[in-house]
Amino acid sequence: MKRAYLDYNATAPLRPEARAAMLAAMGVGNPSSVHGEGRAAHALVDAARDDIAALVGGADATVIFTSGGTEACNLALNLRTAPHGALERLIVSAIEHSGVREPALQSDLPVATLPVTADGVVDLISLDKLLEDPAPALVCVMLANNETGIIQPVAEIAARVRAHGSLLFCDGVQAAGKIPVDMVALGCDALSVSAHKLGGPSGIGALLTRSDVVVPPIILGGGQEKGRRAGTENITGIAGFAAAARVSDPEDMEALAVQRDGFETNLRAVASEVEIFGAQSPRLPNTSCFALAGLDAETQIMALDLAGLAVSAGAACSSGKVSRSHVLAAMDVAAPHTKAALRVSLGWQSTAADTDRFLGEWQKLVHASRARLAVA
Ligand code: PLP
Repeated sequence: MKRAYLDYNATAPLRPEARAAMLAAMGVGNPSSVHGEGRAAHALVDAARDDIAALVGGADATVIFTSGGTEACNLALNLRTAPHGALERLIVSAIEHSGVREPALQSDLPVATLPVTADGVVDLISLDKLLEDPAPALVCVMLANNETGIIQPVAEIAARVRAHGSLLFCDGVQAAGKIPVDMVALGCDALSVSAHKLGGPSGIGALLTRSDVVVPPIILGGGQEKGRRAGTENITGIAGFAAAARVSDPEDMEALAVQRDGFETNLRAVASEVEIFGAQSPRLPNTSCFALAGLDAETQIMALDLAGLAVSAGAACSSGKVSRSHVLAAMDVAAPHTKAALRVSLGWQSTAADTDRFLGEWQKLVHASRARLAVA
């Protein structure tokens, strides 16, 4: 039986347009070469840069291609100069992806954590307090959270950060292609994106910076990407990324919000005590993160996988082992729920049959767990 893939926030299936563009780009020249083959490759990369800029309203931004979202975030964390002088500290939201948290922890700058409310939204009062210190900061707040889909008030944060003379880096990896993203309206100084979250290939992403913001490179070598990221460009990946960006339309995602909301109504019908995280907050249209205390996430994932369904735990680690979610912990979610949290995330190929199939299998797990409790 065909599998139902409900894990788009991990990786979206490759779009046919991206596959075709990658096949066409395979074997083109080196964009740094001055001959015809090189110029053709250069033109492909430049056109792709425009497509990525258009995806996030960054027409005037500098687009630096990287090996993915993680490298783009690491690169942003290397920003050291604010309009009024050197950056002296980092302010990092408590719900950032490890691609931001880890380089922040390894940084030479002191790090302050910006808490979120129980609704999963950055606490603006805490931000105001942190900004009472005049020392220029690099503030890192993601646009949409990968686990819960909760959308952060980035424009409001940017206004405060700008008034302070600090810089704002926004991890836009989960938001790009799923909701309209406009770097200028958001007011962020740098924004990261990743191809495989929107139906492009994995291993390619980009950091977009405001044109007057200069980020020192973390990969040194040749002068590619105007000296901001050395190494011959991943032309195939770039072509696939651009093709996926061109066909990703956040308007298509609006229908997914209807599907997701219906799905959550049905979850509650199966188990009224199910906790749906961020249900009261603005969220990505495709994401549902929920927990039924006592129903262990790892056990559910394995049973669902056997039944042909691919979903994630609230926190998915690269090792495949499920660890306690720092995102849910930051929202003060108690351990019985964090241990049980599942994430269902939809995308361009999702159908109502997929979510219905999930509900059927999940109902079986809930009933089995209740039967076990009744016997115990
Ligand atoms: N930022 C967020 C919010 C993510 O969800 C991810 C991937 O899950 C990344 C960054 C890292 O992107 P990549 O997998 O392209 O390295």
